[in-house]
Amino acid sequence: MAEQMGGQGGIDGAGRKDKGGGQNQKKDALVTEITPQSEDFSRWYLDVVRKAELADYTPVKGCMAIRPYGYAIWELIQQGLDKRFKATGHVNAYFPLFIPEKLLTREAEHVEGFSPQVAWVTRGGDEDLEERLAIRPTSEVIIGTMYAKWIKSWRDLPVLINQWANVVRWEKVTRPFLRTTEFLWQEGHTAHETEAEAQEETMKILALYKEFVETELGMPVVDGQKSESEKFAGASRTFSIEALMGDGRALQAGTSHNLGQNFAKAFEIQFQGRDKTVQNAWTTSWGVSTRLIGGVIMTHGDDSGLILPPRIAPYQVVIVPIPRGNWQETVLPKARDIRDALVAQGVRVMLDDRDEYSPGWKYAEWEMRGVPVRLEIGPKDIEKAQVMLARRDTREKLPTAIEGLGAAVLRLLDDIQAALYARALRFREEHTRRVETYDEFKAAMEGRPGFLIAHWCGSGECEAQIKADTQATLRNIPFGSGSSTGPCVRCGQSATVEAWFAKSY
Ligand SMILES: [Zn+2]
Repeated sequence: MAEQMGGQGGIDGAGRKDKGGGQNQKKDALVTEITPQSEDFSRWYLDVVRKAELADYTPVKGCMAIRPYGYAIWELIQQGLDKRFKATGHVNAYFPLFIPEKLLTREAEHVEGFSPQVAWVTRGGDEDLEERLAIRPTSEVIIGTMYAKWIKSWRDLPVLINQWANVVRWEKVTRPFLRTTEFLWQEGHTAHETEAEAQEETMKILALYKEFVETELGMPVVDGQKSESEKFAGASRTFSIEALMGDGRALQAGTSHNLGQNFAKAFEIQFQGRDKTVQNAWTTSWGVSTRLIGGVIMTHGDDSGLILPPRIAPYQVVIVPIPRGNWQETVLPKARDIRDALVAQGVRVMLDDRDEYSPGWKYAEWEMRGVPVRLEIGPKDIEKAQVMLARRDTREKLPTAIEGLGAAVLRLLDDIQAALYARALRFREEHTRRVETYDEFKAAMEGRPGFLIAHWCGSGECEAQIKADTQATLRNIPFGSGSSTGPCVRCGQSATVEAWFAKSY
């Protein structure tokens, strides 16, 4: 196992230094060094990211190294999404990292929204460039330029392309996974013949994201439409899924944009229609990023560290052999058999056969790293033809017969997946309330309030004032809102819309 890295204090400017001492002392301190959530949620988060070896600080300000354990989670997220994209008719492609300045400035709202965050290349080798190159903050512009070349006729539509890539946004304040200068994501870019088809695509992907995040990550989300001020720069309409983290802050977990004809007009994505007239295409874009990993950490984790939903856990089961007597001749072969049998059933298993660490040490480490199920096996268990299963989420211990173990483990993993979702949903429900008056709103927003649902008149002024007074932003307007009327929580004017507000990441 790799040694715990010392904190560099880089990524949030406040990284905690490891306490001194040799390897063993560091190892012993591993779990106790996680700050309790109740003491400082933000520090707890950073501790978990580093101690669980998900990511680490680097010499590049605001950029993280995703370590193998964290990257394995990302790969499982990628696989789950990629499968769904392809099942809905999308294909993958790849576009350049650089965007010529002239292109980026072509869609006015887009450039205005992104320019404060753009990193520029001004030199190549030892020569100044004639035209600066932006490092993509998102790829509407470069992909739109290519679509203008590729789309000629209504027969070329729809174009349904996704790209797995990195993007760069120059951030002042960063936090691993949640906001980093460079991050990994997928960005879908589609072009359609009609407005209705583009809207259908936008909604289809939002629903796909919701289903994926809830099913695979166990994170309940609220889906709805963003307000004008929170929508994507250049979009006609933006929709989002919003999750609630353990500290009562919201996390925007994914967005899907209906771009109307804005980018088609700016980049001349035109086609000859069925009626032979030249028309602008209707486009969409949508994305989720490595931020989802931050969401998983903050949705499920506890004071002992990470809790991973089984479907995205790099190891779903860790086997810890109990070293009694000549265990390497007796227990270890049995443990290997069990591992092989579980792997054959499709379970991701780690057999921790290191003999330099005690079982107790291993329990604490794998708990901290969030492995859903621990399987303990010792000489006494073998005599009784059983093993001990321990759940990470409830810490329940379940003696289980070796006969039929694979089926029992698969059932248990499903139970844990469902239990994590149910627990997170309960948490969100307990931290969501409806408020009628502005005083009520302000009082609730102090501390750790979660979501507030309130009537809103639709004015950007009220939205901005609410943010200035309480730091809460309008997360989205859930679908189906508008069934009840009431006074706007801020100005008292009649409102038909109910919006969800929260402090957010
Ligand atoms: Zn108002």
